[in-house]
Amino acid sequence: MSDLFDLMDDGKKNKKKMMPIDAYERPPPSQNWQQNNNTNTNTNQLSSQSKPFEFKKTAEAFVPSTNSRTLAEVANDCEGSTSVVCAAVVDDDVDDNNNDEGEDEEKRHALTAKVAKSLSIGGTASDFTSTDQQQQIIANSNNEQKLKEEQERKQEKEEMKQKQEEQKRAREQERKQEAEREEKLLMEELEKNGSGDEREHLNLVFIGHVDAGKSTIGGQILYLSGQVDQRVIEKYEKEAKDKNRDSWYMAYIMDTSEEERAKGKTVEVGKAHFATDKKRYTVLDAPGHKNYVPNMIAGAAQADVGVLVIAARKGEFETGFEKGGQTREHAQLAKTLGVTKLVVVVNKMDDPSVMWDKKRFDEVYTKLIPFLKACGYKEKDITFVPISGLKGTNLKDVVSKEECAWYTGKSFFATLDDLEPMDRDPNAPFRMPVMDKYSEMGCMIMGKTESGACRVGQKLTLMPGKIDCKIEKLWRDEDECNVCKAGENVRMKITGVDEKDIHAGMLLSHPLKLPYVTQEIECQLAIVELLDHKSIFSTGYNCIIHIHSVTEEIEVKKLISEMDPKTRQPKLTKCKYLKSGSIGVVRISIATPICVEKFSDIPQLGRFTLRDEGKTIAIGVRF
Ligand code: GDP
Repeated sequence: MSDLFDLMDDGKKNKKKMMPIDAYERPPPSQNWQQNNNTNTNTNQLSSQSKPFEFKKTAEAFVPSTNSRTLAEVANDCEGSTSVVCAAVVDDDVDDNNNDEGEDEEKRHALTAKVAKSLSIGGTASDFTSTDQQQQIIANSNNEQKLKEEQERKQEKEEMKQKQEEQKRAREQERKQEAEREEKLLMEELEKNGSGDEREHLNLVFIGHVDAGKSTIGGQILYLSGQVDQRVIEKYEKEAKDKNRDSWYMAYIMDTSEEERAKGKTVEVGKAHFATDKKRYTVLDAPGHKNYVPNMIAGAAQADVGVLVIAARKGEFETGFEKGGQTREHAQLAKTLGVTKLVVVVNKMDDPSVMWDKKRFDEVYTKLIPFLKACGYKEKDITFVPISGLKGTNLKDVVSKEECAWYTGKSFFATLDDLEPMDRDPNAPFRMPVMDKYSEMGCMIMGKTESGACRVGQKLTLMPGKIDCKIEKLWRDEDECNVCKAGENVRMKITGVDEKDIHAGMLLSHPLKLPYVTQEIECQLAIVELLDHKSIFSTGYNCIIHIHSVTEEIEVKKLISEMDPKTRQPKLTKCKYLKSGSIGVVRISIATPICVEKFSDIPQLGRFTLRDEGKTIAIGVRF
């Protein structure tokens, strides 16, 4: 049997007619219904045949009554009608004059069957008289339609997703290829020209108690290495005299702000550069005053070598090393912040209370060594050098035998020059914490490259945020250059990023070897000294984390275990809190996502300090 569409096609050929809806015969209300309607108002009890007035949506309902009109008439009426739900198709070859009832009835049945099929309801008219069934059929067909639409939507979505994934893969592939090209170029450049200056670069951070002589030594070093000429020194000498601070003139070279000069205190981390035949150095003069410890942390975070300045003057060493003095805190902080090598300069040896006395020097040495070892410095990485910063003695040239007969060691410069080269891998993934940013004909960022190397034209990624950018110009300290290796203080002009999207604490990274970004870290903590009014370190403790150039709020989420400080093995008892001096494994959550590497991978990016109300309370590392 041909279906409706075949019939319609055939109909066109044979001038088949479509029937308007009003040509359908409405079945007469049944007697049964009339009775029921009169006697019973509960429609639920009505039989299917006795439901109130409804068009019979059965196949039969669409078939014209041959009693009143001939099939051909009906077929004629159908032509062109669009209001017909279903095209009842009437064959042309129906004989108009055929009054044979039996034959007519037969045709009617055949037609009913066709209509039934076209309605997808199958069967004969008598099979489709129930409204429930009709509704069920409509519901089914609606459901089918919905299902179909749903499937189509799903398929569309799937296709869209696949397309997006393909695009993403293509972008990643492009990124990868570009980064590999960049890396090759960088290696070629490094092999061919090196970084421009093959002398090793070291960042020196001057740490120690206030007034120990850090700025004076810094100024003297710059003078001795030819960075500052005699005229400037004379100017500073006069300026210092006018301010009744005669002996401070050397410190003026480092303390450049009026506030610093007026107070005689270093507020910001002063920076100065000098070089010997063997190495290049950047001096970071960290403030000694306890109010400026965050600045000191920023300085120490960039340092490779710590220069711990101790005033040998009677009473001054004691004050600086006693509880509350900055000597201890600075030494601890420097170690935590990645400084492994320490040069302890015993300053003010010229002072009348010392007069280059060996006993005083030995006293300082004996008291400091156990403490520094406890901080984690290895004895082989600590060197003691007696000096006079004010006079410049034993800084560049070794002290004369007339002045100090007992000293057999090296001058301060020679000590620095002979330090073992830092273990830096130029092939490691590039990492530079952003210390600062500013705008100068473009977006400028500053920091110290902690690992890897970079070159002009290279594409890098700022994390967190995965912001791609490109190096347009590069400066090593003050000099413009093409390539920078690990350990350099770098300034770069970058493009492809909005300055407002950059902030201190971000990590400029290799675009394919991205750093670990997290808001929760599991770490090993050593509690240094808790606040008197917050002497218990437990879950819920809030304070500030300092890690590379990040300063962020944290909360203690879980105390995992406490460790025996001697054996460094976890204690078996459940850890409820930690006290000053305890070591524990702790989970902390950070207010915003930060970049933090494993300590074993890049120590400088995996160790941190916790500070509360301006005091260092703990130091830690990420496993
Ligand atoms: P800072 O706070 O550690 O930077 O210390 P400064 O460099 O500002 O020095 C503090 C004071 O110590 C100043 O009056 C300096 O002149 C003095 N001073 C620094 N070094 C020496 C030194 O080698 N000998 C003597 N006698 N005084 C010094």
